[in-house]
Amino acid sequence: MGWIVERAHAKINLALDVGPVRPDGYHGIHTIMQSLELRDIVLLEERPAGISLECLPGDPRKQGAGCFLEFDRELLPPRDERNLAWRAAELLMQAAGIRRGVHITIHKAIPLAAGLAGGSADAAAVLRGLNRAWNLGMNQDELAVIAVKVGADVPFCLWEGTAEVTGIGEQVSSVPSPPPWPVLLLKLPVSVSTAACYKAYDELQSPPRVDAGKMLAALTNQDLARVAECLGNSLEAVTLRKVPELVFWREAMEKAGCIGVLMSGSGPTLFGLVHDEEHGHHVFERLANTVKQERKGLLPNLYLTRFLSGKGNDEFKGGAWNA
Ligand code: ATP
Repeated sequence: MGWIVERAHAKINLALDVGPVRPDGYHGIHTIMQSLELRDIVLLEERPAGISLECLPGDPRKQGAGCFLEFDRELLPPRDERNLAWRAAELLMQAAGIRRGVHITIHKAIPLAAGLAGGSADAAAVLRGLNRAWNLGMNQDELAVIAVKVGADVPFCLWEGTAEVTGIGEQVSSVPSPPPWPVLLLKLPVSVSTAACYKAYDELQSPPRVDAGKMLAALTNQDLARVAECLGNSLEAVTLRKVPELVFWREAMEKAGCIGVLMSGSGPTLFGLVHDEEHGHHVFERLANTVKQERKGLLPNLYLTRFLSGKGNDEFKGGAWNA
């Protein structure tokens, strides 16, 4: 197999509706997911036997972020069987009866435990890459059966792009991607437990619901202003209550000029939509100044990236984005 390189793209939830707990203990969700150009790079190298893994800090500027401001060094994920990429390799090798081994190197640019599905994206990249490298001939649906055992977001990460996702995350229906709209990400150096977030949501008297169908219509029409209006996340209020600093930064993103702001997944990453790349740079600079003026408390990392618009369209071109 020599070696294989796969891109593992981050995602945001443009709309996330969480339903009541199902008899099997999972929550049913209805979400519209969108891949971003921000990505980890996953390198796969054949070995005679076993799985080994290393994680290295990636460079967000070379991995899909046109602008990047770092205040807090991002942590690296575990290098053993706790890593979702390791787990994906293990399950695939079992399912296909493979007796060879693989060394996985992950160049991490997606922040950890952020609501951006970084671990899920790495796992999906391993499934795609090993399927290709070892000519296993599994189709997407067969890979998705393994993917969902690794995590609820992994099936979407196999497809990437734009999709309506239901069930617990295993029902993925791809939809045409909108243009590569720029988007800001703001990630505070806190981690939010997804389980704790769902638990707090279940305890609410009247849990907020979101109409993800409206978002789908806005995307189909490629209507950015309408997409901004339809942003919604059932889990945002509970995470904002747990991490009150997010309220300040959410307002800061609005004041800086974002046309719509929302938390992704169970958080804590906030994303902000902007009119175009020039506006994105302008908003980025304004937010960077706010961060520099604050100087104390929890300071966020900032990223300016873009929607991944269809396959093979994920290279930034032009000086500003490569700087
Ligand atoms: P999601 O949006 O799917 O809930 P997330 O963005 O909130 O995911 P991840 O970055 O996937 O969260 O990390 C969640 C946890 O998984 C972390 O605590 C991390 O230690 C662990 N993890 C395991 N493997 C990885 C990986 N390859 N990359 C990142 N985190 C990983």
